[in-house]
Amino acid sequence: MSTETLTPVQEAFIALVDHCTGCPDCKATPALPDKTPECPKAESLYRAWFILWRKETRR
Ligand SMILES: [Zn+2]
Repeated sequence: MSTETLTPVQEAFIALVDHCTGCPDCKATPALPDKTPECPKAESLYRAWFILWRKETRR
């Protein structure tokens, strides 16, 4: 899968999912769209995604 076709929002979301699949803490408490992750690393990735998502949805 080429990242060139992805938007920054999609890339940020994939980074979050990618982290969560390999992180023991995130496996214990999977990140959900309506829930801020408890893992600090996941939380920063989640926020980075959320900020981009807000920018793209709000025009
Ligand atoms: Zn994590």
